[in-house]
Amino acid sequence: MMPFSLTNDHKELRKGILAFCRSELSEGAEERDRAGVFPRDLWNKCGEMGLQGMPVPEEKGGLGLDPLSCAVALEALGRGCPDGGLLMAISAHLLANVVPIWKHGSEAQHEKYLADLCSGRSICAVGMTEPSAGSDPYDMATKAVPDGDGWIITGRKTFISNATVADLALVYARTEEGKGYHGGVTAFLLEHPQFERGQAFDTMGLRTCSIGELVLDEVRVGPEAVVGRVGAGGPMFFESMNWERTLLVACHMGVMDRLLDKAVRYARTRTSGGVPIGKHQAVSHRIANMKVQLEAARLLTYKAATKLDQSHDVALDAAIAKLFVSESLVSCALDTIRTLGGYGYTAEYEVERALRDAVGGILYSGTSDLQRVLIARWLLGI
Ligand SMILES: Cc1cc2nc3c(=O)[nH]c(=O)nc-3n(C[C@H](O)[C@H](O)[C@H](O)COP(=O)(O)OP(=O)(O)OC[C@H]3O[C@@H](n4cnc5c(N)ncnc54)[C@H](O)[C@@H]3O)c2cc1C
Repeated sequence: MMPFSLTNDHKELRKGILAFCRSELSEGAEERDRAGVFPRDLWNKCGEMGLQGMPVPEEKGGLGLDPLSCAVALEALGRGCPDGGLLMAISAHLLANVVPIWKHGSEAQHEKYLADLCSGRSICAVGMTEPSAGSDPYDMATKAVPDGDGWIITGRKTFISNATVADLALVYARTEEGKGYHGGVTAFLLEHPQFERGQAFDTMGLRTCSIGELVLDEVRVGPEAVVGRVGAGGPMFFESMNWERTLLVACHMGVMDRLLDKAVRYARTRTSGGVPIGKHQAVSHRIANMKVQLEAARLLTYKAATKLDQSHDVALDAAIAKLFVSESLVSCALDTIRTLGGYGYTAEYEVERALRDAVGGILYSGTSDLQRVLIARWLLGI
């Protein structure tokens, strides 16, 4: 028996999001990509749909969806929304910020922030990566030093999604020297202008998501800024990465589905040697491989999603899903370009952008190498 099954509710959810994407999100992605502009208006529309707070209980401002329903919704969003940067902005906000604040924040933090985060009125950025600490983030230089009943935080975070548009930042800082993941790191929720929005980077893809720096220059915060327990930031971040690794790639599946459609349609109509190119085995087998990758991606992602919140083993499933789906998206985008030939290389066909956006996926939430490290560690126990 399958470890999950999609219900009529899931199908309705998918249909509703696809219709929303068609009517509200389908225009202008190419121009925005060129200009590198974050579409705040579209972000707001997604907020009105509740997309930025999907798993949060309704009484706290969310939609109260279980993780599998979130995967279905994000897959539909990836299928229907051609703006990869917007998908990234929403996913990072939701999975690495809203989820940990909902799960570990105090009642006071929930009351003050959660409804606005779920509706998109506030944008949050997660600050973990630093200029000299990415794959090994617990080797961070950012420090929070006790000061009376609060803390003074100093450091610099880099490659941060939503950095230059964030109202809030969930920043991880070292609170005990000599300790890392276990007991050494604490999460703080800061309000702009407590953190400075540093420079934004000119990136290869995901250009409508602002990816930049957060600067913390001796920021004084009270004890109420701590999210979860002092010293418990390591496991909290890891849990949020399980959500991100599992559900961000649900968006990727939607993009793969869209690319597959594009490749199939083109292979049916473009002719070469007097026949549709899809008649050539080299082309049809490439398309068959894309379909296999998409279906395997669905199985892995839905399986991991059903385990979120239920099992500690989800870390392994999340790493496997993240590794497979993000790498598959890159290869599907490249195979779509191969299928479309020269047209695929032009901006008009929207595949070159999909490829540029896809490359980010093999880096953020831990690189593909890091997912292999996690999987191997789980298997070998050394
Ligand atoms: C589009 C995008 C959005 C991002 N958004 C955020 C965000 O919102 N918040 C945030 O905190 N960070 C964010 N990041 C940062 C991202 O998490 C890091 O880039 C990533 O973890 C890799 O760190 P690094 O860039 O420092 O590379 P490094 O850690 O320096 O890695 C360089 C290379 O060495 C390899 N490597 C390093 N260590 C090992 C190891 N132990 N075993 C095997 N190989 C290894 C890596 O796989 C890579 O190939 C984002 C990055 C991108 C590209």
